[in-house]
Amino acid sequence: MQALNFPPQNWQLSLKNLITDPKELFAILDLPKELLPAAERASTLFDLRVPREFVALMRKGDPKDPLLAQVLPLEQEFEERSGFIEDPLNEAASRPTAGVVHKYKDRVLLILSGACAINCRYCFRRHFPYSDNQISGTAREQALTYIRSNSDIKEVILSGGDPLVASDTRLEQLINDLAAIPHIERLRVHTRLPVVIPSRITDRLLEILGKTRLQTALVLHINHSREISTELERACQQMRQAGVTLLNQAVILRNVNDQAAIQVELSRSLYRIGILPYYLFLFDPVKGASHFDIEESDAKTLAAQMQSELPGYLMPRLAKEIPNRPSKTLILPDIQ
Ligand code: SF4
Repeated sequence: MQALNFPPQNWQLSLKNLITDPKELFAILDLPKELLPAAERASTLFDLRVPREFVALMRKGDPKDPLLAQVLPLEQEFEERSGFIEDPLNEAASRPTAGVVHKYKDRVLLILSGACAINCRYCFRRHFPYSDNQISGTAREQALTYIRSNSDIKEVILSGGDPLVASDTRLEQLINDLAAIPHIERLRVHTRLPVVIPSRITDRLLEILGKTRLQTALVLHINHSREISTELERACQQMRQAGVTLLNQAVILRNVNDQAAIQVELSRSLYRIGILPYYLFLFDPVKGASHFDIEESDAKTLAAQMQSELPGYLMPRLAKEIPNRPSKTLILPDIQ
């Protein structure tokens, strides 16, 4: 596990100082200059955004670094491939009101913010119409009304973008409003922000998550063990002390983490810092990112290799999302 070797600072300052210019990223990491024109072109499709803390975990001079590969814009993003589309999960069909995605019976997802600290090139929401779908102002009230009037909903998932881009004050107000709805039992926060800017786990946030009556889980998104820094470990320890359940979801990405040894190390590293591996997703076929995809049969083989090395509680569920199904679809490892 690496220490960030990065001066600790206010997370909002880190958000203001993201690297957004490919030239700067190339200079900091000493990357081959011949790759720069393609990075500049592809960043017009989906902006480059990466926190300096995350860049500090990357290897210099290595264009194949698995952390860099998740954020580096590439020429392949212009390739059209059949079946790779802008809304691969057909979320547009599950939006009863702006900023609400209601796909599964007892839980609902709120799009709290359209922004992320990092733009992952493979993101299935890279084309999501965030500007029409954030819960603020009237949309926030309509979302709460929808949740209040639907007593089947037991859990609210804060998502985005990244919901932890919202200020602690805004989060506290929303969590209090949700906790005041009697049928809501659980709160889940889907976030990558503490991974890429660990200082996001502020004392105030810990207090907010620790004191709500809702059972709270934070689902992190970590794809490779090298994303785990000593600062993230400390933040996870604090969250566990506050009573927050920590889970991880990862996605299988070609040339990033599509090897069993990498996944096994990821599961072990997660558990060392108190996070349980939860889901390992097959790639969602989003337009512009088909170069990350692997065959389902290869994913099943990968999962079988993992299963032969890991105890059951460290084995994430291999799954894919098929639009309009009432739950995620679990996939069995291909055990020979
Ligand atoms: S942090 Fe999550 S929502 Fe944001 S770009 Fe990455 S995968 Fe997408």
